Amino acid sequence: MNKQKVNLESLVRDNIYKLMPYKSARDDYSGDQGVFLDANENPYGDLNRYPDPYQSALKEKIAVLKSVATDNIFIGNGSDEVIDLVFRIFCNPGKDKALCFVPSYGMYEVSSDINDVELIKLPLTNNFQIDKETLSPYMNDPLLKVIFICSPNNPTGNLICRDDIVSILDSYNGIVVVDEAYIDFADTESMISLLDSYSNLIVCQTFSKAWGLAGIRIGVAYSNYEIISLLNKVKPPYNVSSLNQKAAIEAISNYKFYSVNLSNIMKEKEKLYEELAGCTIVNKVYPSDANFFLIEVDDANQIYQQLRDLRIITRNRHRQVDNCIRVTVGNKSENKLLINALKRLS
Ligand code: PMP
Repeated sequence: MNKQKVNLESLVRDNIYKLMPYKSARDDYSGDQGVFLDANENPYGDLNRYPDPYQSALKEKIAVLKSVATDNIFIGNGSDEVIDLVFRIFCNPGKDKALCFVPSYGMYEVSSDINDVELIKLPLTNNFQIDKETLSPYMNDPLLKVIFICSPNNPTGNLICRDDIVSILDSYNGIVVVDEAYIDFADTESMISLLDSYSNLIVCQTFSKAWGLAGIRIGVAYSNYEIISLLNKVKPPYNVSSLNQKAAIEAISNYKFYSVNLSNIMKEKEKLYEELAGCTIVNKVYPSDANFFLIEVDDANQIYQQLRDLRIITRNRHRQVDNCIRVTVGNKSENKLLINALKRLS
């Protein structure tokens, strides 16, 4: 395998490269023993202290879980924060570009718009894979700083072919973000295993999906030490609350709960696939490596509204994929309600 080494300095925005980051009180003194009169905190209460700005205890847990060094881990306020930071670190507003493949997760576009960065949106092929020929002319554009690859992809549910991601990593000199929000549901190895080989790789994961912790907003980026340092430099000093850090630590310590939940979801997913495929109203169920299915119907707008009237809330993805609705795998009774409703609408 080629070892891709990019020139990070030339990729990073000049102002970010030169940025003198904010030094919090906890940067000046990181011990937890002593009389703390340095951060203008209130001396009373249980949540009166600022949280650990680098989430060291949580990173130790994640490092063991994923077999990576703590120096290769960044924790964001959800992976949405990581996506935004990537734009802010690498893309000069009004000048640089980023690229993603569509249909995909909507925040790449919203973050690019917020940051005034042009986003090139290349259509995925009919089976939702990367079309290397349409991508190829963009690969040498020096203004193209970041390529986002969502795998498993939202809303289509499929993994992007690993060899295609590797060939982009091999030949592209910018940053490649592989968004693996749904990787825990897929029967495949994470791209984290390639971190040592590619200095332009950022892998994003999240505690919002398989870990069942969307409420605590914990997103994780894995990358080399230099990129992790840049993310730390630009993030707000205390971006992850102490309650959220604690909840994630507890969840990892209680691995059994996670794995039982995950295997229940996977069993329900299998059943739901069969049942959706058996509904006459459903023309097609796309195979999924995630915890949701994209289904095609005759009239997605109508079916979405009819389900909504029954208080079954799905995601109408008609604008991204013709007449498609995205349904999350729920628990047994939720899935049953969905299937019964679809059968009644038939
Ligand atoms: N990436 C993808 C592909 C997603 O679908 C989502 C959430 N829907 C996110 C990132 C954001 O996840 P988080 O909750 O960690 O911000």
